[in-house]
Amino acid sequence: MSVNKTVSLTNNRQMKGIKINPPFNDMTGQPLVANFLSSAVENRMTSHAYLFAGPIGAGKTEAARLLAKAIVCDDGGCGSCDNCIRASRKTHPDIKVIDPEGVQGYVSEQIRELIHDTNLAPIRAKNKVYIITRADLLSGASANAFLKTLEEPPARVTFILLARTRDSVLDTIASRCQVIIFRSIPEAEAVPLLMEIGQVAQKDARIALASTGGSAYRAKEFLRSSAAKSLRIKVLETIEQLKDSDPLEVMDATKELLIYLKQPLDEVKAQHEQQLAEGGEFLTKGALSALERSQKRNLTMRERETLGEVFHVMRSWLRDCLVLKIGRTEDVVNIDFKYNIEKTAANTTESAIARCIKAVDTAELQIQYNVSVQSAIEALLFKIREETLKYV
Ligand SMILES: [Zn+2]
Repeated sequence: MSVNKTVSLTNNRQMKGIKINPPFNDMTGQPLVANFLSSAVENRMTSHAYLFAGPIGAGKTEAARLLAKAIVCDDGGCGSCDNCIRASRKTHPDIKVIDPEGVQGYVSEQIRELIHDTNLAPIRAKNKVYIITRADLLSGASANAFLKTLEEPPARVTFILLARTRDSVLDTIASRCQVIIFRSIPEAEAVPLLMEIGQVAQKDARIALASTGGSAYRAKEFLRSSAAKSLRIKVLETIEQLKDSDPLEVMDATKELLIYLKQPLDEVKAQHEQQLAEGGEFLTKGALSALERSQKRNLTMRERETLGEVFHVMRSWLRDCLVLKIGRTEDVVNIDFKYNIEKTAANTTESAIARCIKAVDTAELQIQYNVSVQSAIEALLFKIREETLKYV
């Protein structure tokens, strides 16, 4: 059975009055996708394989988690049964998230394990769901091995593949899935949405969005995480104090920042421990060690995301300095640091700020090329200090 069908739900505005059942009413900024999945579940018309394609931060992972919950629940994702609760806690043994194990992508061994696993009966629910987080990295032998299973998965198995674009996925894979396109959510829509979801003021919604690089989904998580919020404050305070710091103090500030960087990860680690504790009830030794491996990868990913947020916060502060320089006071996002932004803007040139923004990009790139986080951030802070001190 091939489902060569693309559901294009882009370029549509938020629609008032469309019917979205739980759990899809929790989705961020994708009302049409939510409506589509909600009615598929309600009418028991879900596909055996989906490809969710859309930019980072469009909420694909969130949607995949909600669809998985709806599939393992006997009631379409009621929210209160044991299956739903485990799905929400990310501890359901029949919902598996498959991240690439190798640097280059999925290794054959991983796909063999996956195929073997699809043939085993579900543990708690009547159905099983596999979320494949980087469908664009399925290629070569691993992709070939996977094709047959994807085309005719055992009954009760659903695959949800994620990728940034449909075109980044092999056509042989995409054509076997129902493709659902996620749009990027414009700021003008994301801000009121976050205000409603997080019950926060407009200024806080804008801060959350700027601190997460414009991703409505991550901004929602940001609003829920006290560690993420205090990391932002720490980054801005560090920048604020740069002007009065000597080189030794800049180095100390970097070390302190690194400590704060670890804090959001403690929230993730606590979640992982809970998963392991609950998994211990019924998972085999092999499945437990697979869970541990996947948690390790998840932690690395979250480390990268947290670091990304540090750079987003720095960029948004620098951008604030720029918009002040050109007189657009109302566009300043980090208004809790406005005094410092005004002072910096008054004493710095536009090109100096532009050089700082470039330095942030460079630092981020250096870390991707294995420069240590400490050296990259230290060099960046020295650069910002130099550029903003020059004109004082
Ligand atoms: Zn339920």
